[in-house]
Amino acid sequence: MNIASVIVDVPTMQTDRPFDYLIPEKWSQMIQPGMRVIVPFGSRNVQGYVVKVKDHSSFPQLKAIREPMDVVPVLNQELMDLADWLTKTTLCFKVSAYQAMLPAAMKAKYEKRFAAVNEEKIADEKVAELFKKKKEITWEEGEKAGLLTSIQKEVKAGTVELIYKVKSKGNKKTVRMIGTRLSAEELSEAASRLKGNAVKQKRLIDVFKQHPGEMISAKELLENANSTSSSLQALIQKGILYEEQKEVYRDPYAQTDFEKTSPFPLTDEQRKAISPIIEALEEEKHETFLLYGVTGSGKTEIYLQSIQKVLEKGKEAIVLVPEISLTPQMVHRFKSRFGDDVAVLHSGLSIGEKYDEWRKILKKEAKVVVGARSAIFAPFENIGIIIIDEEHETSYKQEETPRYHARDVAIKRAQHFNCPVILGSATPSLESFARAQKGVYHLLTLKNRMNHRDLPEVEIVDMREELRAGNRSIFSRSLFEKLKDRVEKGEQTVLLLNRRGHSSFVMCRDCGYVVQCPHCDISLTYHHFSNEMKCHYCGYETIAPSVCPECGSPYIRYFGTGTQKVEEELGKLLPEARVIRMDVDTTRKKGAHETLLRQFSEGKADILLGTQMIAKGLDFPNITLVGVLSADTMLHLPDFRSSEKTFQLLTQVSGRAGRHELQGEVVVQTYTPEHYSIQLAGQQNFERFYQREMIMRKLGSYPPFYYLALVNVSHEDPLVAASVTEKITKFIRSRLSNKTVVLGPTASPIPRINNRYRYQCLIKYKHEPMLSDTLKSILEQYNGQGSYSHLQIAVDINPFVMM
Ligand code: ADP
Ligand code: ZN
Ligand code: ZN
Repeated sequence: MNIASVIVDVPTMQTDRPFDYLIPEKWSQMIQPGMRVIVPFGSRNVQGYVVKVKDHSSFPQLKAIREPMDVVPVLNQELMDLADWLTKTTLCFKVSAYQAMLPAAMKAKYEKRFAAVNEEKIADEKVAELFKKKKEITWEEGEKAGLLTSIQKEVKAGTVELIYKVKSKGNKKTVRMIGTRLSAEELSEAASRLKGNAVKQKRLIDVFKQHPGEMISAKELLENANSTSSSLQALIQKGILYEEQKEVYRDPYAQTDFEKTSPFPLTDEQRKAISPIIEALEEEKHETFLLYGVTGSGKTEIYLQSIQKVLEKGKEAIVLVPEISLTPQMVHRFKSRFGDDVAVLHSGLSIGEKYDEWRKILKKEAKVVVGARSAIFAPFENIGIIIIDEEHETSYKQEETPRYHARDVAIKRAQHFNCPVILGSATPSLESFARAQKGVYHLLTLKNRMNHRDLPEVEIVDMREELRAGNRSIFSRSLFEKLKDRVEKGEQTVLLLNRRGHSSFVMCRDCGYVVQCPHCDISLTYHHFSNEMKCHYCGYETIAPSVCPECGSPYIRYFGTGTQKVEEELGKLLPEARVIRMDVDTTRKKGAHETLLRQFSEGKADILLGTQMIAKGLDFPNITLVGVLSADTMLHLPDFRSSEKTFQLLTQVSGRAGRHELQGEVVVQTYTPEHYSIQLAGQQNFERFYQREMIMRKLGSYPPFYYLALVNVSHEDPLVAASVTEKITKFIRSRLSNKTVVLGPTASPIPRINNRYRYQCLIKYKHEPMLSDTLKSILEQYNGQGSYSHLQIAVDINPFVMM
């Protein structure tokens, strides 16, 4: 077994297959599938993943593996099979699938180094000098010495070698721990042999006399003993104490103490819901449950008790929550039930912190992982349950390759482990609810809220009426009255500014000219603070014009409402109100999100004003009013899910009010009060919404009636982009069944990004066995090759972003 099949980290169509390498003798016992290695590839050294170890290769001349990167496999067989499946279902490269499963810290960064291989033979004196002190120097060192060309000659002559070193392996953090192997008596004796003036050493020994078996960090030890590091060093040299580097995990929640909570006795309704889950656990069978229940109906408690059962059986659990609701409150609920068994993975962690949490899982030090989308790849080997909270959230779909949906991955893994999946939501996705209706998923319903509070009253305000009545403010009269009332009573308000797909743009009031990005066909977003306009797609920035470039009118200004503007207006209208603003600008710094929420929960503000990110996870007793400033901004996006998204957001934010003793109220401001998604969100009637929306989807041949696949083609030359898309579309039509709808070629809703013109072809199908092969051959034929070298083709199966 001296040959390894390796998938190299060169993501192209041509290299998306295993290459064989010889395993050097010295590592023959060590190399296993699932390990990363450095291998020569062409003229470079690259990282690769060993997928197989074998005896024979059909290639006569094999290069050898340069060096192993791991001593234990980082991917087990199940994950490698899962990667195969991802490759097939999302049409991604194998190496992209592997990388998606590993923490970012393990993605290779190469450092180029020169190593002397035959020092005596180095011809160039200066180069020889350089290698005298060190056998290896970095590229930069060679560059600094001005010797790169001379070194290059040596490399050609074979006296020096260029090697690529993988830089960060996610540097482990260690602390210096001190201990002793002596007993208390032996320590006393050792102390008595020290010189009389060695009091600082004696004090160090005293610390261990009380706890001889324990280890203590050097820092703490020196503090406790009021001693010095030279005294410590002396004792280590004498063999009385010893030191050890202990790995510490950078646990971001380490500071918090978690008071242990016990399971609640379940209500009848909860018991009914949990029992089929427990049954599936007992019988070790795979089943997907859709746990449908309004906010506050006790879904999380069901998750917790199911996990309890899983842990009792010695198995592991994965819990996915949307990034945005991975708040300290949420983490707290899991940590206070399961303590240190819980690892947390979310994007707020540094690369190193994530790597630590991931290694805890790999080393089986954690049994439960709570995390955002990518936590679905947690390297557990005995999964007992997978839970996806807020299953309708679109953030479970990854928008870059591999374009996977965490729900599909969850079900795939659960099938492997014969375990249940719970999808939980108050507003399930249409796809999932339809599957539950058909019996593909097992529907579990929680109808009542735990506190038996009615859902809050929702008032829908027609903003057109406000305008007619002469009110030009951002706030309707009703919302403003209620706001004032809450501030007077000392109760709290959440104000949501729904800005997705509708940011502040600059428009001329005289001629209607809208300032657009010169590289992308999209309007620039106005940033009040810097008086700049920025493009969200390519990063282009420019100063906002003071006169219209089209007609010269000075009445050119920004439109749309930003959170800053609302804050300013609040300052004018309700100067006594204390406001916390939460948006991308105020939460950019790490931990800012948590800090702002804590301030609000401690009652340090009357109003929490923010974008989507405040809609979820908040559970504060004092919130009695929720205001949605503009409900319909999302409705007009070119996306067949826009009604669904609007309904979900409004329902969710309404759920923030009155979760506790105080009754809550919700005011929704809109310009389209008659739209069913707004009306039915007002009545909190998911089932009616589902029926209405299903009709629309059926009429439009959209999911869940049809599956979708989107092919996006882009090129600098619009003619090339259009003609290639045309060819592709024809080819697709010729290959697929006539029941399948193939739309295109059309310009994408955003026709140009970063000076690349974008065309697309949309495929709607029910059953299409040829789809995957067809799309794959398109990728093989066109992507980045020959005359198509500047062409980019992206295939998204089950797309969520239609632009
Ligand atoms: P959801 O996840 O559906 O929003 P939660 O599980 O958070 O609902 O439950 C809402 C509240 O009710 C929480 O404060 C929770 O601690 C509490 N709760 C849940 N189940 C029970 C129970 N069986 N008995 C008492 N309190 C419960
Ligand atoms: Zn103008
Ligand atoms: Zn741009």
